[in-house]
Amino acid sequence: MDKPTLGITFEISLSKKMMSIDQFPSRLLEDAVNEFARLPGIGRKTALRLVLHLLRQETDEVRRFSNTIIQLKENILYCKSCNNISDSEICNICSHSARDQKTICVVENIRDVMAIENTHQYRGIYHVLGAIISPMDGIGPEDLKFDILENKIKNQQVTELILALSTTMEGDTTNFYLYKKFNEFPIKITTLARGVSIGDELEYADEVTLGRSIINRTPFQNSFSL
Ligand SMILES: [Zn+2]
Repeated sequence: MDKPTLGITFEISLSKKMMSIDQFPSRLLEDAVNEFARLPGIGRKTALRLVLHLLRQETDEVRRFSNTIIQLKENILYCKSCNNISDSEICNICSHSARDQKTICVVENIRDVMAIENTHQYRGIYHVLGAIISPMDGIGPEDLKFDILENKIKNQQVTELILALSTTMEGDTTNFYLYKKFNEFPIKITTLARGVSIGDELEYADEVTLGRSIINRTPFQNSFSL
């Protein structure tokens, strides 16, 4: 009776050992895993899987992969006008003749630009802050380059500023700061509608969201324009 039990115990401890990835047969392998594991959302097990996958590829493919990353880092530019990621000094959106240069949508980061662009509903331009005011992280208004935005509002006859920041305390703080800063300018300052999500049942919506939805109700004909 003892032997099978011992066998099972040994197998379990062996499989646990195999799961551990602290013992590398190669220093080069360990270095590569360490680098991948530094990426956000990548644990050491995933890092090992990715590295072993690359190791199985042809050398040319791995070289192309690493060259793409290096070229991205070395050659990427930030649009001088809106701070969006770009291959040229002025990005495709700012330089597009069909975009409305008098409507500026303020967002926190490039992912927000991509999200709004994916809706195909916005034809204005953007201003990417890169961060939002966050006292907890030591980011104050002086750390965000509002002067570029101010110059644009002054010089481009801007008519509308859309504040499209997160509905977090930091996002609201930054929205309010921008509102106070540009309220004196002869422009319309708007913010994204906040309310019940499409497909949500009212009884499950939280009180704040439902309350905002009632306050910010819209004419019915605007509700089916998408
Ligand atoms: Zn731009």
